[in-house]
Amino acid sequence: MKRFLTMLTLTGILLLGFALPHAAQANTVIQNGITCVGPIGDSALNGTYPDDGSKTTAGHDYWCGTAINQTTQAYQMLQSVSGLADKTVLQTAGITYYLFGTRAEEAQFWGTGSPFYDNVSYCGHTAAQVVGGVSTIKIAIWNACSNKWTGALDTNIWMNEVTSHESGHGLDFAVAKQNGTPTANPSTSTAFRALVSADLTNLAQTACLTFGNSTPSGVESGWPATHLPAVCNFNNVENATYVKKSNVAIAALVSAYFVNPSPASLKYQDVWAQLMVLQGGGPGSPDIVPVTDSLLSNFKCSAWAARSYYLFNVPPAVNTYPTGCPQNPGAF
Ligand SMILES: [Zn+2]
Repeated sequence: MKRFLTMLTLTGILLLGFALPHAAQANTVIQNGITCVGPIGDSALNGTYPDDGSKTTAGHDYWCGTAINQTTQAYQMLQSVSGLADKTVLQTAGITYYLFGTRAEEAQFWGTGSPFYDNVSYCGHTAAQVVGGVSTIKIAIWNACSNKWTGALDTNIWMNEVTSHESGHGLDFAVAKQNGTPTANPSTSTAFRALVSADLTNLAQTACLTFGNSTPSGVESGWPATHLPAVCNFNNVENATYVKKSNVAIAALVSAYFVNPSPASLKYQDVWAQLMVLQGGGPGSPDIVPVTDSLLSNFKCSAWAARSYYLFNVPPAVNTYPTGCPQNPGAF
């Protein structure tokens, strides 16, 4: 797939070279009617991964379609990437970032037959394609999020959090690539599953302390006509919807996408990605998944592994986990 992208880039060069010899930018890809141009940044941000290209040299970021010239959001995206402690492993894995105006533009750019095609995500997505044992990883972020319930395009007011979350997925794929097992992500490993299971078992405190007072977002409610109510009100009185349920059962309702994903083979890719947001200092305001972030702030075992990967790209040493966690959780 790396070669494929190189060829696309060259095709873009040739087409532009013949058609628009004076306006041509060498680092431009036109595919299925969508134009992508790199790099995103200017002199203030240019030169470091992922904004390490030039007008004549491909780097690791592009802005595409109607996102072109959406400077503020592009910079927010780049700054979120720059804040990651794990940038080196992303860079070594060759992960490329794309800022599109909408999900539809991204879908059109790749085409429906592509492994990078996406028609379900809300504000961005990350995908890897493994060919001949080599994985190619791409991260897409959109200026406008696709609201599954209303069909509307919601302004992406969560640019920092979305970028950090998708970079967390990128790290997951990058570590798998680094380990020489590109289809075995650490987030779906025996060890990480054991750690999240321990975290869920350890949720001994009250539901109000665990889930907080925020109303579940659309992502957390699964986009129903009526959103789920907050677990607790601001006087810490638990809503009747949840009163007879355990914390694990409540988590399966208000954080289903994270702790109870479908299909189950996705366990726990999104816990991993969102723990990386928390490792990076938190989601900021507004928070796209406020109840989940309250829940994950109680996850000491899986967070210990996330911290180790975030800082060092390796799992924690055995017998270093917090009290109450598996001390030798198995293979990542
Ligand atoms: Zn995700």
